[in-house]
Amino acid sequence: MSQALEQRLLEQIEQWELVDPHTHINPHAPCARTLTDLLGYHYYTELAHSAGMPKKTIEGPQVPQDPKAQAAALIPYLKHIDNTVQYSWLVEIAQRLFGFPHERITEENWEELWHLAEQATQRADWEQQVLRTSRLQAVFLTNDFDDPLQGFDTSRYVPCLRTDDLVFKLTEPEVQQRLVRATGVEVHGAESLGRALDRLFEHFVSQGAKACAISLPPDFCPEEVPPDQADGAWKQLQQNPQHAQARSLWSRFVFWSLAQRCQEFRLPFDLMIGVNRGVYAHGVYQGQDLFDSRVSLIQYAKLWNAFPQVVFPVSVLASVTNQELVAYSWIFPNVVVHGHWWYSNTPSVIYRDLANRLEAVPRNKIIGYYSDMYKLEFALPKFGMFKRVLARVLAQEFVLHRRWSEQRALDLARQILVENPRRIFGLE
Ligand SMILES: [Zn+2]
Repeated sequence: MSQALEQRLLEQIEQWELVDPHTHINPHAPCARTLTDLLGYHYYTELAHSAGMPKKTIEGPQVPQDPKAQAAALIPYLKHIDNTVQYSWLVEIAQRLFGFPHERITEENWEELWHLAEQATQRADWEQQVLRTSRLQAVFLTNDFDDPLQGFDTSRYVPCLRTDDLVFKLTEPEVQQRLVRATGVEVHGAESLGRALDRLFEHFVSQGAKACAISLPPDFCPEEVPPDQADGAWKQLQQNPQHAQARSLWSRFVFWSLAQRCQEFRLPFDLMIGVNRGVYAHGVYQGQDLFDSRVSLIQYAKLWNAFPQVVFPVSVLASVTNQELVAYSWIFPNVVVHGHWWYSNTPSVIYRDLANRLEAVPRNKIIGYYSDMYKLEFALPKFGMFKRVLARVLAQEFVLHRRWSEQRALDLARQILVENPRRIFGLE
């Protein structure tokens, strides 16, 4: 009974046209060109490395230039990770987008997949086909602050100003030069920083940006810093760029200044909270970062109190912070729950976190899901995974336990997956 119910709900959910509110897609090359582009996703390289593949197999000067040889080197390790949900994403792409007939990718059959992928990705309408099959209408980008935002359709690929470099790396000469090139403003302290940020926000908003975003380490604690203190910190950093206290003051000043611009320019400020970079120092590219359970959302209390008009879609790296996020979003009108990020993006964790959210957070403040993908092909399996969990939560928790009608449950699902992202980010 409950399986048939889940299936009925899922069939409806799969009809909906979606917006993906956070990705790392390059709008000039949104799709994979070869199987290697898909296997290069950090989930496969880090899991293969964790399962025994030496890092030098895929990184370093001795690695062959030929993409097919690169893929061949990783394939033998896939058998160790065929239990993982990440592997199932790859198989779903292989089967549904490329027509691969097998349920596993092995040393015997992978060349068949290589050729199927090659044929598919070379088609002139491949991008359209992937978007259509995934039912994606709009895809949010992650744009560096100096991105010119030219040469693509910004209603399909929606710009989003990523600000990690501004907050944490502005003491580096190279980042300062990028800022000068992007804005014409040289930063000498608080006042000039403000002018540079104004230029960036004007540029991004005029080009259709719908959000400002940042990922934050677990020890970050936003606070208002008076401009004279920020000036003092900037001066100290010119002498010693590693001065810990000055760095922290300056970062908090830049961050707070961004929140002020979000208020002024009416942009939601996406916060991705709790990532510790470089924990596994010998890890493969993008396979070094982990969460840190010592993070608490109490660190953001001053920020959320100070900016009641700014909407903060908040992502947490791990389920351990989910209950805090649910409670903060239940109390603060400006805190919105946003997707299932990284280590909380596996089905059993999504089930628990989503059930928690759906039973306690106002329904207009839940943004169901984003893919965080680097290649467009991954929207299909990642959203597919979420939709299946969503159908299960609706069936179990709402239709069976709370005796909701199927239609009422579907209306709730449609709101979090389709309507909320459009309304919260202001898409037409
Ligand atoms: Zn991301």
